[in-house]
Amino acid sequence: MTERIPCKSEGCSATILPATVQKTGGYCMPCVQAKERQEWQAYVMKNRTTVDLYAGVTDSVELLKIMHASRPHDPLIVYTPYKSGKEELYHSLSGEEAGRLEAYALELLRAEDEDGCTDILMSLVCYNNWLLSGTGTLAELLRREVYHPGILYKDAPADIRNLLLEQLETDGENRNLLLLALSWIGDEVIVERFREWREQMPDWAEELHIAPEWYTHEAGWELTADGKRRDLFYLDNYAVEKINPSEATAYAEEPEASFLTESRQNCEWCGSPLTVLLDIHADHPSVQHLPVNGQKLQVQTCIICSCYGPVFMELDSLQGARWSAFNRKPGYLPETDPEEERREYLSAGKQFRIAEKARNTYYAVQWTMEPWASQIGGYPTWIQNGEYPLCPCCSQSMHFIGQLDWEAVEEYGEGIYYMFLCPEGRMSATLFQQS
Ligand SMILES: [Zn+2]
Ligand SMILES: [Zn+2]
Ligand SMILES: [Zn+2]
Repeated sequence: MTERIPCKSEGCSATILPATVQKTGGYCMPCVQAKERQEWQAYVMKNRTTVDLYAGVTDSVELLKIMHASRPHDPLIVYTPYKSGKEELYHSLSGEEAGRLEAYALELLRAEDEDGCTDILMSLVCYNNWLLSGTGTLAELLRREVYHPGILYKDAPADIRNLLLEQLETDGENRNLLLLALSWIGDEVIVERFREWREQMPDWAEELHIAPEWYTHEAGWELTADGKRRDLFYLDNYAVEKINPSEATAYAEEPEASFLTESRQNCEWCGSPLTVLLDIHADHPSVQHLPVNGQKLQVQTCIICSCYGPVFMELDSLQGARWSAFNRKPGYLPETDPEEERREYLSAGKQFRIAEKARNTYYAVQWTMEPWASQIGGYPTWIQNGEYPLCPCCSQSMHFIGQLDWEAVEEYGEGIYYMFLCPEGRMSATLFQQS
């Protein structure tokens, strides 16, 4: 048996073979690797340079081009972040600047950088409500068979729409994406087409997992029984902003709207107190177009259980919200002890307030753009597929009325709570999604 020799490092108890001694000068492999790592780190610290790509750049379009550009990771370079984020910069764009950025996105597309192009176009459409050029940008996207994200086609002119409809008939490979793009356009011609497909299922629909008409849910609408378009969201979109704690106390005096307060009722599934996600006075501008029944809009839910299935609350103009007898306990719920539960999120509620001015309906559509997602109204930020619960009292799809992003609530929070209202204002529902 070969004799093993102790490693030379102080405090290391490993032993090594004579062959290793020859290779490493008497150190065990873990010690050699640890030393190499230390040397590399010291080298990086010594030779690292800070690069400010934004130095001297004042033009918003140029700033955004730099922000959107992808750079390979280099441990020897530290990039100085810009003083404001993408979202803020997009807000500051003039019409002329937005147009220049759209032209730049088109250049990227022609240089085969499809993702770079669609990232910029999505930001323009969502943050700026920018109308993409039909003859330029949309025609080029179509020519290159770029159909995703479908919302880019939302306001497409009739000729682009007709080309998409033609493509749908023959292009099996892209049929899913084409149906989504068409759903986003959702004009009269398309509504009529979806109605025809419902009446007479086209041959190509056999290859789909769901009937064509259900694609429209991804674009926030559905066909009614008599073949009309029915929207499942509201155009007014008010961000639920976070204010700094010093302002919060002054604001809390008599709020027109409050968030995350404890309800007096308990969850009938887990026994924990329910949480009032939001409570908004019916006169508040943000809920003006919502079917609010009574003096206020209140959405209550169980923060724990609504992660596993929808929680319905019956709304009553006099008594507020009550746990609905229609609630169906999910197949799985975690073990919880209401005594043990920390409800730290309740303190975050005092920091929220509704923005004074509405933002674009589709502002937060794209979850991967990491927009500020908490909002009243607008179009939801789906993390998974879009889902609109059926109202147990009137059997209609419920309307999306707002969402709270848990990332803004708790330090390590994630996921979004989505809130819905029955079109007649008799029931609220809450769903949760996370990545
Ligand atoms: Zn060692
Ligand atoms: Zn519960
Ligand atoms: Zn209903």
